[in-house]
Amino acid sequence: TPPPKHQEKEKRQPHSPPLPRQNSKTTPPSPPKVICDYTGKLQFNRIGFLGEGGFARVYEVQDPRGTRLACKVVTKTSLKTKKAKTKLYAEIKIHRSLEHPNIVRFQECFEDEDNVYMSLELCPSGSLMDMLRRRRRFTEPESRVFMVQLIGACHYMHTHQVIHRDLKLGNLFLDADMNVKVGDFGLAALIENPGERKKTICGTPNYIAPEVLFDTANGHSFEVDTWSIGVILYTLVIGRPPFQTKDVKAIYQRIRDNVYEFPADRAISSNAQHLIQQILTPDPQMRPTLHEIVDHPFFIHGTVPSAIPSYAHDRAPDFR
Ligand code: ADP
Repeated sequence: TPPPKHQEKEKRQPHSPPLPRQNSKTTPPSPPKVICDYTGKLQFNRIGFLGEGGFARVYEVQDPRGTRLACKVVTKTSLKTKKAKTKLYAEIKIHRSLEHPNIVRFQECFEDEDNVYMSLELCPSGSLMDMLRRRRRFTEPESRVFMVQLIGACHYMHTHQVIHRDLKLGNLFLDADMNVKVGDFGLAALIENPGERKKTICGTPNYIAPEVLFDTANGHSFEVDTWSIGVILYTLVIGRPPFQTKDVKAIYQRIRDNVYEFPADRAISSNAQHLIQQILTPDPQMRPTLHEIVDHPFFIHGTVPSAIPSYAHDRAPDFR
C-alpha cells in the first residue's frame, strides 16, 4: 500500500516513512510585517506565529479594526506545479463554501507578489491534540460535548457534499469558549455527482479508514469521516489512537484486521465501548450514520454539559 499523502503531524505518533515535503525545494514563507493585497485594500499586521503544516505557515494577524485573525500563508514558489495549484484552489473553494459554528470560518483569500494568503477565524487555544497532551485523556462528559460539536460540523459538511478526509485531534481547534472548530481542508473532497467514489489514498495513518487502504478499486466516500470520528472518540476517552503501534505498516495491518483493545487500566463506560465498536465497523456500508451515532445510549443516557470551563485545558472538570 502506498503511503498516504499527508504525514502524521502529531508528535507522539510512530515515525512514518519519510515523504518529501510538498515544498521541500522551497523556503518556507516569511511574510512581511504588514501583509497587504495587491490593491492595498486589505491590510493585516502580523503579530505572532501559530504553527506550520505541510505547505503553509499560519500567523496571528490583526486587521485595521483590531480584530485578531489567523492567516495561512503559502509561497507562490511552492505553487509552481499544476497539481499544487489545483490542490490549493480546491482547499480554498471548499473551505470558503462552508459556514458553520463548529468549522473554522474562512474570511478572505488574497495574494501579493510572493504569497497566497487565507485569513481565517483565530483559534487561540490550540488543538484538541495539544489539550490531550496536557490532560492525557478526557472525561466522558467532555468527550460527549466535543463529539456532538464535531458530528454537527461533519453532518453539515456531508449535506454540502464535502468529505473532510483528515479528521483528527490535530485538526480540531478550540475557540476561547472551548468550542470545537474543524479546520485544515487541505485533503477535503467535493462529491459532485451522487454515488461518486474517491480513489486517492490520503489521510493520516492512525485515523485512516480501511476502505481507503484496502478497497482502492471501489474507492471511498463520506463514511471515511465516520470512521475517523470513531478513532477520535476512542482517542479522547483512552488517551491514544486505537491502532497505534511502532510502525505505519503495522498500523495498517491492525486497521485491516480490526485489531484494537480497551486497556483494563482505563475504565470507560460500556456505552462508550459499544459505540466505538459500532463506529469502527470495517464495512463502510454497515457503519452507523451520524444520526444513529448521536442517538446512541452513550449520548442519550449520559450528561452532556452545556459548556466546558477553560480550566479544563489543564485539569479534569467535575460535572456534578
Ligand atoms: P496544513 O494544511 O499545511 O497542514 P494547517 O491548516 O493544519 O496547515 O495549520 C498548521 C498549524 O497552524 C496548525 O497545526 C495550528 O497549529 C495552526 N493553525 C492553523 N489554523 C489555525 C487557526 N485558525 N487558529 C489558530 N491556529 C491555527
